[in-house]
Parts: sequence; structure tokens; C-alpha cells
Amino acid sequence: MLHSNTIIFHYGEIALKTGNRLFFEKMLAGNIAQVLKDTGLGNVRIVRGRILADVSAETDLEAVKKLMPFLFGVVYAAPAVRVAPDMDAIANIAVDLMKNAPAGSFKVDCLRSDKNFASTSMEMNASLGEKIIEATGRTVKMREPDIVCVVELLERDAYVSVERWNGPGGLPTGSQAPILMMLSGGIDSPVAALRLQRRGAAVFGIHFHSYPITTRASLEKVKELAQVIAKSQGGMTVYMVPFADIQKATVKFAPPGLRVVLYRRSMFRIAELIAKKEGILALATGESLGQVASQTVENIAAVSDAVHLPILRPLIGMNKEEIMAEAREYGTYDISIRPHEDCCSLFLPEHPETRAKINIVREAEVLIEGLPELESAAIAQLDKVGI
Ligand code: ATP
Ligand code: MG
Repeated sequence: MLHSNTIIFHYGEIALKTGNRLFFEKMLAGNIAQVLKDTGLGNVRIVRGRILADVSAETDLEAVKKLMPFLFGVVYAAPAVRVAPDMDAIANIAVDLMKNAPAGSFKVDCLRSDKNFASTSMEMNASLGEKIIEATGRTVKMREPDIVCVVELLERDAYVSVERWNGPGGLPTGSQAPILMMLSGGIDSPVAALRLQRRGAAVFGIHFHSYPITTRASLEKVKELAQVIAKSQGGMTVYMVPFADIQKATVKFAPPGLRVVLYRRSMFRIAELIAKKEGILALATGESLGQVASQTVENIAAVSDAVHLPILRPLIGMNKEEIMAEAREYGTYDISIRPHEDCCSLFLPEHPETRAKINIVREAEVLIEGLPELESAAIAQLDKVGI
């Protein structure tokens, strides 16, 4: 049986950005090489609006397939066999691949980026289709066939493939300015980070913890989640910020109902200072509208009031089931559901305010003695972790 010797990565959206297309292509090629560096994939190169990578006996194709969700910018990839651009040679390979492909209907799809090739795409589709029917007895189905036999003519070679692996699409991570992600150990924030990466932004993480009031488990969880998020960008910086003293002061001086809103305001202020130091232009959270008491429009407004930087909320319109499905796809779900105590769940009042008024929150906040100093102290004590 034939083995593929090339993977062809197709991208959609970046091809539209004609002005800086080469910038995006180079970044995507670099990211593919980086994400797949341990799979034994060979030379990665840009060829006529696609990215090609060599496959050898050492390449672990199953590992490549598993990493597809992290190849942001790739719409799909196809393991292909490279042959001379000669009709007989192409037909032999196509027939051989189709003999070994799973049962079902098929069609042939020739993509000619090399218009010098003698036959037109239509002629090639018809002629290859006939040969495949003859050799395999399969039936042709133009709409929604089980298998599409794709022939791509690129530069000096032809590539034949019968398999397609879907990618996440979007833009290559790193093509947008970075964002500081508020990372809890929960299900939502890692998915939010991955969504931002899919739109091109690399992310830094910031996690607030109440160690030693809470266990080290939540820190370990966040590190494990960060390892998944780090994949598409080849590493990640996570700021681990001690938060217990701020919480204690808030509990001591503020009305119980406002605790969570006030914790969040402190978190955002600290995050904003760190972002400014790093030259980061936006913060992000995993909030989804109305999901919990702290995520009402009123409370989102009362929290956002604490800072000036834009706060991006990629999951704002998503349902929990959708977020969970995405978390499973990326493999963060099993890490996130491990039990842990989030610092926000400490000292939770029985009746948290769901419609906090900004003025009242501000008034309560100034009564928390030493809050600015405690926030400065938290920054001074943070742990900058390289993942
Ligand atoms: P998640 O699953 O992301 O924890 P959640 O549904 O549990 O979200 P909340 O706990 O209200 O919701 O948190 C909302 C958002 O606030 C989180 O998505 C995250 O961005 C941020 N956040 C919450 N706790 C922390 C924390 N300890 N450190 C950093 N960010 C946090
Ligand atoms: Mg949470």
C-alpha cells in the first residue's frame, strides 16, 4: 500500500488578506513547524497558496492528526502522495489509493494551480474517474460523496490524496497583538484563551490564587491548562498572583453581597498594571452572559469600571454545553473538571449581589483599608512562570 510522502495544509481566510499575505503565510508555516515539531514531520514550505510538509517513515501521522485543533489558520490538511505531473502516473496513484480507501462513493476533484498542464480539470476528473470505476467498481457521486480523490497540480509536481483532516480555521496565532487572559482553573477561561488564539492573538495568562488557604492543586491545574494553551504559540508566560490578603481585607470591610464584584475589580486592576508593563493592549475573561450571578450585565459593568483597557469576552454569547464541547475537543475539559477551590469561591456570601450599582461598589471599595497597598504587594509577590 502507498504511503503519503507529503501533507498539504490548506488555509482559507489568510489568503484573502492580499496586502500582507506573505506575512501570514510565513507565520502559519512557522507555527505548523513548531506545533508539529515532535511528530517527525520534515521540511515545511509555502507552495502556491498552500503549505507543504514532507512526510517520512519517521513521521507519526496519528500525532499530526491529534494536533490539528491547535493549527490555527489551517482549514484542512490532506496526507498526499507526490507524483510526476503525468496523467498515467497520476492515474496509477489515484487508483491505488482508492483501492485501499474505505468503501463508498467517490468523486475526483482536480485543482490546477499549474495552468500549463495539458488537460483541463474537467478532462482530468472524467478520465481519472473512469479509471477508478474500472479498477474498484465504486460509484461516482457528485454531491456529498464518501471519498473525494483530490489531485493538486503545484509547480513541478502533482499530489494525490483521498483523506482530509479538518482544522480549526481562523488566523495563525501570533498574527495579532497579544492579550492577557484571566485564567482560572475552570472550564471556560481555557476555551476563551484558545478562541483568542484561533483569531490570531497569542495569550499571556494571569491566575489569582489564595494559597495557602486553598491547596496547591489549583496552581498545578492552571499550569496543566496553560500547557495546552501554550501548544499553538510554543510556550506561554503565566503570572501567579497571591490574592488571599486582598480577599481577607475585602471580607473584613465590604458588604458580603459585593465581595465577588470587589474581588474581580482588584483582579482587573492588577491585571491591567501587568498588561501595561508588558505592553499588552487588552485583557480577556471566560465570562458568558448570565451564566452565574457575577456575570449579569450590571456586574460586568461594575467590574469593567475598575479598568481602562478593553476586556475581551470571547465566550459571552455561548451556552455552557457549547463551551464544554469545545473544551473536550482541545482536551482541557478533563483537567478543568478535577476538583479544586477557586479563590473566588472563598468566603462566598449566601446572597451575592446580581445587580451591583457602580456608585455603591465604588463607595464600598474605598472603605477597604489599605486596598491599593495590598494590590501593590500582590504584584510585588507574583510568580512569573514560563510554561
Ligand atoms: P471559568 O470556568 O473560566 O472559571 P466560571 O464559569 O467558573 O469560569 P467565574 O468563576 O465567575 O466563572 O469566572 C469568570 C471569569 O473570571 C473566568 O472565566 C476567568 O476569566 C476569571 N477568573 C475567575 N477566577 C479567576 C482566578 N482565580 N484567576 C484569574 N481569573 C479568574
Ligand atoms: Mg471559575
